[in-house]
Amino acid sequence: MVPARRLLRGLLYGSRYDRVPWGQRVYVRPGERLLREAQWRWRIRRAPVLSLAEYAAELPLGEIEEFLSCMMCGESRQQPMFEPTGAGKGGTGRTWRYHVVRCPSCGFLYRNPNIRPERLGDLYSSGYSGFLTGTYAANRQRRYNLTMEAFSPVLDDGEGRRLLDFGCGVGLFLELAEQRGFDGYGVDLSPDSVTQANARLKRARAYFGAPQDVPQIAAGGFDVITLWSVLAHLPRPLEDFARFRELLAPGGVLLILTVNARSLLLKAYGSAWSGFTKNHLMFYSAETLRTLLRRTGFEGVAYAPHYGDTVEAGTTRLPEPLRRRLRQAVEASDGGNMMRALAFGDEAAVARWGDRLTIHRLRDRTAAPDERADLDLTGSSGTGALT
Ligand SMILES: [Zn+2]
Repeated sequence: MVPARRLLRGLLYGSRYDRVPWGQRVYVRPGERLLREAQWRWRIRRAPVLSLAEYAAELPLGEIEEFLSCMMCGESRQQPMFEPTGAGKGGTGRTWRYHVVRCPSCGFLYRNPNIRPERLGDLYSSGYSGFLTGTYAANRQRRYNLTMEAFSPVLDDGEGRRLLDFGCGVGLFLELAEQRGFDGYGVDLSPDSVTQANARLKRARAYFGAPQDVPQIAAGGFDVITLWSVLAHLPRPLEDFARFRELLAPGGVLLILTVNARSLLLKAYGSAWSGFTKNHLMFYSAETLRTLLRRTGFEGVAYAPHYGDTVEAGTTRLPEPLRRRLRQAVEASDGGNMMRALAFGDEAAVARWGDRLTIHRLRDRTAAPDERADLDLTGSSGTGALT
């Protein structure tokens, strides 16, 4: 940190917040939320708005990459915002770097250039399961349970219900799902992860590939589909979500956990934000997720603010007044670091859970039938890819 800023911080806060972990400081220091939000608005005003041609002319294009327009609204203009970088895994010393733009029309954040969908497997072909064990596994399973509790009672009892975990990895969630009685299925693009998952599971089964490649899954009829930290990895979200909608049984729900593009930590740390990981492609807010769900035929969505796993599990060392301040900052800014959402496929799903959860309607039910057709763009031609 530059000395002037350190001095300013010292004058403002003294050493009072030195023991608060980095991931919580921006939420608990007085005035910081408003400051970061102002900083964010300034950053957006300052970023140039370029045509896609102007933008693409400035950047090299890798073999497995392509330039995109905004997939949520079709806008082709680009606001260059961030350039995350990182070190390669396993001490290879190879670093990665990519560019993140903001759509000047709808605010969607996405990597541009992005990864060609047919080359997506390249990112997961080998060694991807390696780090999915140990403390990581325990923390993940705690996170799954906390998220399911946040939408209780929808996922409490799996008896007689079919569940698909899309991007199931080594089966850590499917293991919990079978314990809750679900009839569990998983798919993943990493072959060694699928092997490990099937070794772990008793009744549930994991498969390699896309849902349409596996007959047991292509048959559909799922009461629950889960996307645990998967949404940000999808290069063709409209196609995928239209398929999820088809795979849902009447009354079915889709559970999503992903990094939050409105995170106060993104506003504070920019390119160094933890949500910009090597294989992330697109970054959603509650608003842009609503667009995705509406365009792919979903009926409603509920959100549960994310306060951080240690706060929710009661293991944080933050004193109670600071915990309260953190919760207030998350709620006032919709700024939790992760976003949790439960999408409802049809009227039956909304009707079943609507008295227990606050469900935002995705379609204007008072519109005339032909106007409703305009709102539902399922199967429209534009994927946003610049071919
Ligand atoms: Zn857009």
